[in-house]
Amino acid sequence: MESDFEVVIIGAGVIGLAIASQISENHNVLVIEKNERFGLESSSHNSEVIHAGIYYPLNSNKHLLCIKGNQLIYDWAKQFSVPHLKIGKIVSATTDSSLTALEDAWELAQSSGANIKKINKNILNKLKLNLNITDGFFSIDSGIIDSASYLNSLEFVARNNGTIFGYSSKVIEIEKINSGYKIVLQNNDDSIGTVICESIINAAGHGSPSIAAMIGYPLDGGTDSMPILEQVINKGVYFDIINNNINKLIDYLLYPVPDNEENMQDYISAFGGLGIHVTKSVNGTMKLGPDSEWIDEKNLSYINDGKRLEAFYRAGKLLIPRLKVDDLSPGQVGFRSRIKTKDEQYPDFLIWQDENYIHLGGIESPGLTASLAIAERVNDFFSD
Ligand SMILES: Cc1cc2nc3c(=O)[nH]c(=O)nc-3n(C[C@H](O)[C@H](O)[C@H](O)COP(=O)(O)OP(=O)(O)OC[C@H]3O[C@@H](n4cnc5c(N)ncnc54)[C@H](O)[C@@H]3O)c2cc1C
Repeated sequence: MESDFEVVIIGAGVIGLAIASQISENHNVLVIEKNERFGLESSSHNSEVIHAGIYYPLNSNKHLLCIKGNQLIYDWAKQFSVPHLKIGKIVSATTDSSLTALEDAWELAQSSGANIKKINKNILNKLKLNLNITDGFFSIDSGIIDSASYLNSLEFVARNNGTIFGYSSKVIEIEKINSGYKIVLQNNDDSIGTVICESIINAAGHGSPSIAAMIGYPLDGGTDSMPILEQVINKGVYFDIINNNINKLIDYLLYPVPDNEENMQDYISAFGGLGIHVTKSVNGTMKLGPDSEWIDEKNLSYINDGKRLEAFYRAGKLLIPRLKVDDLSPGQVGFRSRIKTKDEQYPDFLIWQDENYIHLGGIESPGLTASLAIAERVNDFFSD
């Protein structure tokens, strides 16, 4: 059977789009997306932070692809006029009992090769006038990006290279055939279509395990040569800071280390995120979050019911003593997808190839930052 496309990418989030923008230079590509446009799921419900790779185990995918992706995304943003700001990040201790965690974060950041410096005493004293900071260090290469413009630019480049986008089409069945795959799609009007392709790149985010299951892969790791493909979901809620006088106090990202913790990596693994922090957007708005809750639901609702206001107020006030409860308004909700791990294994990004199938799994933070580096890695599979 003749193929309609060499490569089908399932999912038009930041990962599918970044891959499409590169693979389409040398291959004819179809991107299939169940929503009516790109980036409506995790890729538009995140902190929009360009991370510097300071928190991850050395030489893990998250570490290497974040550091590489950090450079690539700044270069891309300049080339395609995507609004971004390299404002830097303060990693801070807010109490004496969090100084051990700060020391651990500093050592981790130093060994990661990231560009960091201690905050000098004068600056620290100035910061202390408005913020509750005991001590801290500065990550120079951290920044923020307008993720909607970034996604737009990736889709533009992919289209320009000839990529076809099939929106409002959900992949519901996949059959392995001699020449590759037959993919069955259900369109928004309930009509059914089929596509024949040579290779599949599964960039379906929360939907990645179910795509793999359609092909027949066991999700629990099966034999030794198979990785675990199953994912767990963690919900993160934000609250916006709507008092402009407070927004003006902070010109950078502010990430407190957890209180009474000694090891940052263990904390992040168990908590599911970095703890409630302060981020800014390129247009100057500011938000607190995300928090963390492990959930079982399959139907993800992006509505913030505001029930966590009190908890956010307490966490925010720890950092910004003049914060009032009225300064907060319910913000966005995001869902992290993480690879389910066995024992003490680190939940790294999974980029797994089985002949003409490539699986992207557990692409939680720093996936936005790492997107172009992940795309390069996937592109390399096609050049080998
Ligand atoms: C709360 C939160 C904060 C974060 N903050 C940051 C940050 O500051 N910096 C950073 O670098 N990263 C951050 N991240 C991580 C980043 O957002 C993700 O790594 C990234 O968005 C993952 O992109 P994706 O393309 O894999 O997934 P998605 O954006 O979810 O895209 C997957 C797409 O696949 C589609 N799909 C699924 N199933 C099917 C199907 N059967 N058929 C067709 N289409 C399908 C979906 O509709 C979806 O559009 C954060 C994540 C969260 C949740």
